[in-house]
Amino acid sequence: LLPTALPALAFAVFVAVLVAATAAWIVGPPLWQRWRRARIAATPFPPAWRRVLRERWPLYARLPPPLQRQVQRQVRWLLAEVPIVGCAGLVVTDTMRVLIAAQAALLWLNRGGRGFPALREVLVYPGAFVVDRVEPGGAGLAHEGPRVLSGESWQRGQVVLSWADVAGGAADAGDGRNVVIHEFAHQLDQAHGSANGAPWLGRGAERYARWSAVLGQAYAELRERLATGQADAVLDPYAATDPAEFFAVASEHFFEQPHALAAAHPALYAELVQCYRADPRAWW
Ligand SMILES: [Zn+2]
Repeated sequence: LLPTALPALAFAVFVAVLVAATAAWIVGPPLWQRWRRARIAATPFPPAWRRVLRERWPLYARLPPPLQRQVQRQVRWLLAEVPIVGCAGLVVTDTMRVLIAAQAALLWLNRGGRGFPALREVLVYPGAFVVDRVEPGGAGLAHEGPRVLSGESWQRGQVVLSWADVAGGAADAGDGRNVVIHEFAHQLDQAHGSANGAPWLGRGAERYARWSAVLGQAYAELRERLATGQADAVLDPYAATDPAEFFAVASEHFFEQPHALAAAHPALYAELVQCYRADPRAWW
């Protein structure tokens, strides 16, 4: 090797290392993540967690075994990657973590990867919590005044839950009220922009066109019915708040009262089957 070739060789090695490091940085995390998830999925589901699901969430026992396994896998991935943080002095237990993650997993059946990729953390209060903040309104700032909430979903990957409402919603699996389903439906909606009642539906503009036509009509009919003093056969009146709430409330009824929802709103139900890649009528 000629002495003059040394700097060129050193430079080539330097460039090669730089390229390799950059490539590892780009493809590294997902590969490492996939390996970690595969390892987690291969270990048995803790029997204590299975007991929590069987004893505290009656809907779990109704799921066919392949879907139960999907829920189990999703629970472990979510709990490995998303911190669940206690607020107002709440000490978060495994029971709480498992019940929250399992109900959220219902909204991610028959899809790949960890559910809710944008989800960063879940905050849990012991019970309903009071929110008192100034919200940006049409003309400057509008102060809404204090509100008592059982849950909230934020666009930047945060979900806030009341543990009392999570536990109650899980225990009564057929009443069409479930704060975890509600708030995680908002997360799906918010994953691609602000909440507007349209989650990601896959590729194809026609799917969105049909979705907005069907949900828009059902939403308009509900508002009309309520305006004339009638109640809907299934949908909670809160669904008439705005299109985002309509989707979240319809999702609660979809998983917990699928037969009633399908009978009263067949077109809406069919869209939700496509969206959630499951037909809960088979479980009830
Ligand atoms: Zn909501």
